[in-house]
Amino acid sequence: MKVLRFDDAGYSDFVSELDRQAMPGTDLYETVAAIVNEVKQRGNQAVFEYTSKFDKLDLTEETMFVSEAELAEAEAQVEDSVKEAVAASKRNVHSFAKLSMRQDWTSTNAEGAQVGERFVPYDRVGVYVPGGKAPLVSTALMTAAIGQAVGVKDILAATPAGPDGKVNPSLLYALKESGATQIIKVGGAQAIAAMALGTQTVKPVEKIFGPGNSFVVEAKRQLVGAVSIDLLPGPSEVLVIADDSANPAFVAADLLAQAEHGGDSVVGFATPSESLLEKVKVELEKQLAQLSRADYIRQVLDAGTFVLITKDLEEAVNICNVFAPEHLSLIVENEDAWLDKVKTAGAIYVGNYAAVAVGDFLAGPSHTLPTGGSGKSFSGIRADQFQRRTSIVRMDKASVQKSEKYVAEFARVEGLDAHGASVSIRANS
Ligand code: NAD
Repeated sequence: MKVLRFDDAGYSDFVSELDRQAMPGTDLYETVAAIVNEVKQRGNQAVFEYTSKFDKLDLTEETMFVSEAELAEAEAQVEDSVKEAVAASKRNVHSFAKLSMRQDWTSTNAEGAQVGERFVPYDRVGVYVPGGKAPLVSTALMTAAIGQAVGVKDILAATPAGPDGKVNPSLLYALKESGATQIIKVGGAQAIAAMALGTQTVKPVEKIFGPGNSFVVEAKRQLVGAVSIDLLPGPSEVLVIADDSANPAFVAADLLAQAEHGGDSVVGFATPSESLLEKVKVELEKQLAQLSRADYIRQVLDAGTFVLITKDLEEAVNICNVFAPEHLSLIVENEDAWLDKVKTAGAIYVGNYAAVAVGDFLAGPSHTLPTGGSGKSFSGIRADQFQRRTSIVRMDKASVQKSEKYVAEFARVEGLDAHGASVSIRANS
């Protein structure tokens, strides 16, 4: 683990580099642009070639879709305890989504016109569920189930299958329970391009949701315009900010859980307390010894973890606001006061007992959150992103008469006579 103290040489340079901009490198940009272009030009043929190349799976126009028989087989295979966990998560995701959906409203403006907003669900959306390293069963709930709660009728899911053409049964079950109406066994940038642009057999969607690796995220970025997107949710990150009130065993457990996401994930720990750090190090070793993937996790911790001994908590929170971590675990005394100072974090877990993993799987808010610094401008998936918003203006003659003089001024300074006339003709009718 890389440990830097606030008075070490190199500390300020390291902290400045935490101010990230979520922009792709040239290689990534070009790789993805080529995939998107091929799918645009050649549709399924290109999708099948990339699936064969990257996922070692040969698909056809029939086998690219998960069949009803496969869904039934998956449902029969999934254990009841998994079904219960999916139901528990869906219950929380749905009630959180219902609370955060936007409601229609109307009001009256200063000239007496009725103004308002109307929200309707999108008709057809796409969700991407990663499948490269692990079958992210919970991601089905954290994307599709939110659209389902909002009332989206048509949800196309894309997830890569293994070389045997199979998708994990628990993931298939969770997708179906979360309202997916069609599932394609395609991953990576080619899946995003197929959903956004359509192919001979895939009807295009209106908006794409969901996390993925750097190819997936970059494809979403490049396809804005053809579709809208939720956000840029890439490789997972956590920043733990803690003081002596933190339980070192809990901090260590969260750092290990984060490292389990793999080599492209980011694990950060900022504390003004050197004694806490020493206790966390001891706990890390103790807990690592009990984990089945200890060697793998140790490699991630060695390569991708940074620990900062900050001057004080204020500095740790300032670093968080610049870094914009996907997850922030905040375990400090006087937590509400410090919480108020955090401006940029995808999701904040407050206190010793708020395990990030509960948010990953169950709590209710989507675990699909902005990474790579994109949290400075994006938020995590929300229910209202599945709603199309339209503004409404309704006027009577009195309100058009009251509006006329102001409209006439704008029309005059902008040189748009016909605009002015379209109001006067009504006001003077
Ligand atoms: P993935 O499904 O995103 O990517 C696998 C696909 O990448 C493959 O199907 C393949 O087609 C494509 N691919 C692989 N190598 C390629 C190459 N060299 N060139 C072009 N395409 C290639 O699965 P993953 O790789 O396991 O990544 C999932 C990511 O999602 C992880 O980094 C995880 O941390 C992240 N995630 C983020 C959030 C969030 O909210 N931010 C939530 C869940 C998961």
